[in-house]
Amino acid sequence: MSLKCKACLLGRAFFYNERVMGESMNIRIFGTAADSIVDGPGLRYAVFVQGCSHCCPGCHNPESQPFDGGTVRTVESVLDEIRANGLVRDVTLSGGEPFEQPEACAELARRLKGEGYGIWTYTGYVYEDLLRMAQDRPAVGQLLESTDVLVDGPFVQAKKSLMLKFRGSSNQRIIDVRKTREAGTVVLWRRDEEVITRPASW
Ligand code: SF4
Repeated sequence: MSLKCKACLLGRAFFYNERVMGESMNIRIFGTAADSIVDGPGLRYAVFVQGCSHCCPGCHNPESQPFDGGTVRTVESVLDEIRANGLVRDVTLSGGEPFEQPEACAELARRLKGEGYGIWTYTGYVYEDLLRMAQDRPAVGQLLESTDVLVDGPFVQAKKSLMLKFRGSSNQRIIDVRKTREAGTVVLWRRDEEVITRPASW
């Protein structure tokens, strides 16, 4: 277990408040980006939630860690903001830690998915831990169910590489959630055009 930074320890009370608020479908967010090209393939709408207890040294977004920061909004208003952008059909939930506001993030992801959006979710937890967490907190499983691709694991500075696409350190996995569920074991996501298929003439 990682050591908690002071901001996270102080913010614990807000984490539990956030959970209650999440049930009323409010969401605490750090910000949004309508034109992300680094949080998954193509042009994406990124929603950065506020609050993260992982405290990874070298975190790309330390201002998003405190649970009392950011802005409280309704899931509905975030949905409206995304819908108002006529260009983007893919959304990434990042942070902060989406699985520390699972009710609100699951609601957001479920409704976007229902409207045909593709969903990537970034988390500092590993997939196997999320499966265990889902047994106590169903919204964790619901957010996984609405996620097409999960980028999992904490950021590890010693494993950082600028050559990596869509992740900061090599311990993080880009997981195809549907295929993983079907296979019963982690299946990594592969971009269609990066899958080399052998021509029939070979
Ligand atoms: S999980 Fe992400 S947001 Fe949270 S501390 Fe680690 S790098 Fe920062």
